Amino acid sequence: MAILVTVMGDSGRVVIVGGGILGTMHAVMARRHGLAVTHLEREAEGRGASVRNFGLIWVSGRRAGAELALAQRARELWESIAADAPGTGFRPAGSLTVASSEPELAVLREAADLPDAKQREFELLDPAGVREVNPALRGELLGGLWCRADAIAEPRLALPALRAFLARGGPGYEWLPGHEAVELAEHGVRDQLGQWHRGDLVVLCTGANFTGIAGPHLAVTGALASAPGAGGAGLRRVRLQMLQTLPFPGRLTTSVADGDSLRYYPAYDVPALASLPPQAEVAAQSRAQLLLVQRLDGSLTIGDTHEYDEPFGFDVDEGAYDHLVARAAALLGGPLPRVQRRWAGVYSEVAGGATIYHRSAVMPGVVLVTGPGGRGMTCSPAIAEETFQ
Ligand SMILES: Cc1cc2nc3c(=O)[nH]c(=O)nc-3n(C[C@H](O)[C@H](O)[C@H](O)COP(=O)(O)OP(=O)(O)OC[C@H]3O[C@@H](n4cnc5c(N)ncnc54)[C@H](O)[C@@H]3O)c2cc1C
Repeated sequence: MAILVTVMGDSGRVVIVGGGILGTMHAVMARRHGLAVTHLEREAEGRGASVRNFGLIWVSGRRAGAELALAQRARELWESIAADAPGTGFRPAGSLTVASSEPELAVLREAADLPDAKQREFELLDPAGVREVNPALRGELLGGLWCRADAIAEPRLALPALRAFLARGGPGYEWLPGHEAVELAEHGVRDQLGQWHRGDLVVLCTGANFTGIAGPHLAVTGALASAPGAGGAGLRRVRLQMLQTLPFPGRLTTSVADGDSLRYYPAYDVPALASLPPQAEVAAQSRAQLLLVQRLDGSLTIGDTHEYDEPFGFDVDEGAYDHLVARAAALLGGPLPRVQRRWAGVYSEVAGGATIYHRSAVMPGVVLVTGPGGRGMTCSPAIAEETFQ
């Protein structure tokens, strides 16, 4: 990954394209290296996956090996960055993955015995233990896997909070919203106003935008696979549905995942996984898992679903929401507050399990970083750190 040694010049400036969490964490890491930063975002504010996610800093479910190590490093970095930028809402809340059936409990038992369970800070709890850790879980459950390594940040607050921290650091950080990068050259980009921005390095963090300046340099799979591809892992896009309730009267001390999440996170690929019965039909159709996070204002963020085939729906599917709300109500042991917001989000993901994200040098002095998939909020500071190593 140490490709940058060959492309850095000596202007002491980095140009970053994309105001999502990947671009913003690259700005944080560049400033740590004493580099000046010009930061372009085409919208007035980040509007991509980074403001639409749960804010889960999720170590528990990561694939053993490099992915787990990257997530652990990212978790450390989040903590140190949040000490300077408390407005990110970072808190080491931990998580509980809850079993509602014997087969799910068997998976949790085997996960708690994994050789790297200690690194994930796993502890298997019985129902009383679950309620001791998180008294809001008053519904029917058979046990839970507590992961103390997991944490939470606030997706709607984190980007402006990080930029405010960068701005406090002096004139070396320049934020340029409303500037869309439309042309690339060695060590530079031109925006839609015709202005060139040059530096030792340009870092493209353009998210799930598979057209535009990044398009010719991505090996895209699926319906947008017209790009020639310049090597690197194949990328695809995934669309997820989410909702947020009004404030919940109780306090959730941890984030919560249900047994369906065991199907989606590679850490749980243990022998007992094969004995899980099929998901409920509506959940299987939308590839749903319940993830539940209480926001700082008390509201609950609830998701998610997974749509892989493009063109994606332009509307949201109520059946999947009914299922997720019912699952959350069952675990909390009562009805939820009214839903106040629904939305969908799209992330870009490297296809296959071997690669964690995509980084390529697309021309001298220009690097493209994307594709962390559902790990992007978690891993962004460690990915940015690797760019500047
Ligand atoms: C619903 C949902 C839930 C998720 N939950 C989690 C979670 O809890 N934990 C976790 O770790 N990950 C989660 N993820 C994944 C995570 O959100 C993403 O991996 C991450 O946000 C990607 O960050 P990004 O900066 O690459 O992309 P984005 O946030 O999409 O940012 C890209 C930015 O680039 C800008 N841009 C694009 N092209 C140009 C251009 N030419 N010029 C200027 N600007 C440009 C866009 O406007 C955009 O603001 C979730 C994702 C979704 C969709």
